[in-house]
Amino acid sequence: MTKKKDMDTLHKNGHYAGSLEANGKVYDEEFEGLVRNMLVRLSEDPRREGLVKTPQRVAKAMDFLTSGYEMTVEDVVRDALFEENCEEMVIVKDVEFYSLCEHHMLPFFGHAHVGYLPNGKVIGLSKIARVIDVFARRLQVQERLTTQIAEGLMDILGAHGVAVVIEASHFCMVMRGVQKQDSRTVTSSMLGTFRNNDRTRGEFLELIR
Ligand code: ZN
Repeated sequence: MTKKKDMDTLHKNGHYAGSLEANGKVYDEEFEGLVRNMLVRLSEDPRREGLVKTPQRVAKAMDFLTSGYEMTVEDVVRDALFEENCEEMVIVKDVEFYSLCEHHMLPFFGHAHVGYLPNGKVIGLSKIARVIDVFARRLQVQERLTTQIAEGLMDILGAHGVAVVIEASHFCMVMRGVQKQDSRTVTSSMLGTFRNNDRTRGEFLELIR
């Protein structure tokens, strides 16, 4: 597998649109071959003009959309943890995220609301969005995504409690099958005080409404 090497390039460039396409080189021969086969299976002609570069684009896009596998919470938070005596609830709400459902490899996306009760440490607010992406940029189910974000933050913060609520639309529901365009799925994970104390949980749920 060449994935690791490609990911290093990806990290260096900061995003997946590398210079490889410009000079016509192959990005990932094996992956591009698989996409080409898929196009044939879909009754398409991978040689027609609009599709010639599609396998490479798909390979790069999929590497980006699953780049969370190569990241850890520690990596993204690193020097953004601060000692602070604040014990009040911190809430970051309406954080946009995009993920892929592991059942259909189709997008699901929406908003995450995160709250925590500090225990001597606070985290740079923008880093919460980065932590969400660590887990969103993988093949996921919404329930696991929610739990992983909560547990990841709990571990790194040693907080009194962490709460995560995610509202999302799943393309596998809205585009196919039951075609419920407006359906949204809501999941939550409550840890520590948010789990044990009704009033704390109630305050959080009230503030993210
Ligand atoms: Zn699905």
